[in-house]
Amino acid sequence: MNRVSYKRGFRLILLFTAFFLVSQSFAACKNPSSEKPGNNGSNQQVSKTSFFLNTVVTITLYGTEDDSLIEECFALCNEYEKTLSRTLRGSEIYDLNHRTKDTVSDETLVLIKTGLTYSVLSHGAFDITIGACSSLWDFTAQSPVVPDQKSLSEALTHVGYEKLSLDQNRISFSDDQTLIDLGAIAKGYIADRIKDFLAENGVTSALIDLGGNVLCIGSKPDGSPFRIGIQKPFDPQGTPMVVVPVSGWSVVTSGIYERYFEEAGKFYHHILNPATGYPCENNLLSVTILSEHSVDGDALSTACFSLGLDEGMSLIDSLDEIYAVFVTDDYKIHYSEKLLERFAVSEP
Ligand code: ADP
Ligand code: MG
Repeated sequence: MNRVSYKRGFRLILLFTAFFLVSQSFAACKNPSSEKPGNNGSNQQVSKTSFFLNTVVTITLYGTEDDSLIEECFALCNEYEKTLSRTLRGSEIYDLNHRTKDTVSDETLVLIKTGLTYSVLSHGAFDITIGACSSLWDFTAQSPVVPDQKSLSEALTHVGYEKLSLDQNRISFSDDQTLIDLGAIAKGYIADRIKDFLAENGVTSALIDLGGNVLCIGSKPDGSPFRIGIQKPFDPQGTPMVVVPVSGWSVVTSGIYERYFEEAGKFYHHILNPATGYPCENNLLSVTILSEHSVDGDALSTACFSLGLDEGMSLIDSLDEIYAVFVTDDYKIHYSEKLLERFAVSEP
């Protein structure tokens, strides 16, 4: 029998978000100090939740009760979804994949280039041409099914970032059935753009949460860092295992506990191994990346999940100003080399 965890995932995200919003507003009430506008130490805040990009999006602004900017952020999410979605008819990615257009906008080009960079960096463990395989899986279906082996093997022959070439804004494929899927990187990119938009509009303290991709603007109104929790995988209360104080940074988690199903006693989650077409099989439950830009965190959390603990950790340790927390299936926490020097994490 299939077991769908999607709705439960939402409840977890909401619970989790609520837990942190409550703890943040508590902290803000306790320390009404600074007098800068937008950072005025007041307990004013406004938060709204909506649903885009197949996920729960929550944006919280501090030091204001005006929600009009949040509505504009939601409009941005909607625009980006209409451009970057693999499944929405008429999106730039849909048109590329259906070969009805071969050029993309400058922004989509930037994202495809970033995706290619991480595909190369991870030696294809992360691969934006996973589309032929990922489109055979539907983890959000009422009754998800495992694709048949033959179709997956056939799809696999069309996966490979080297099949893509760029000439300015023109994208071409050496294999006519290769499909682009930006699902592992788009939310991070969009979070970065929302942050730019809010910052341009004078916001100095905010939290952008795109279904577990959390990006901060500045610090809490009292000047202290935001305290972002890394959820204990599969915990029904969404209890944090680790709390990381961050200002202005991104905290992105890729885990196997939000989109999965079971069939014939076997567990299937949504991070695929581009070498097999099946979900990555290793001892990881989640990978969280701390980075300045959310697009890097989104790409690397998926890439590291696919690479596994040892290779993923080596990759992170080779990068400047990128930190990671891996959780293995024995619920052990593994920190990247310099993380504990850089962040005063706690394990509640
Ligand atoms: P989430 O969407 O839950 O935040 P991720 O950022 O890890 O999770 O992205 C998972 C999505 O990325 C999948 O739904 C699929 O569209 C795509 N994907 C799955 N496996 C890979 C992979 N190995 N490389 C690139 N993209 C992938
Ligand atoms: Mg990702």
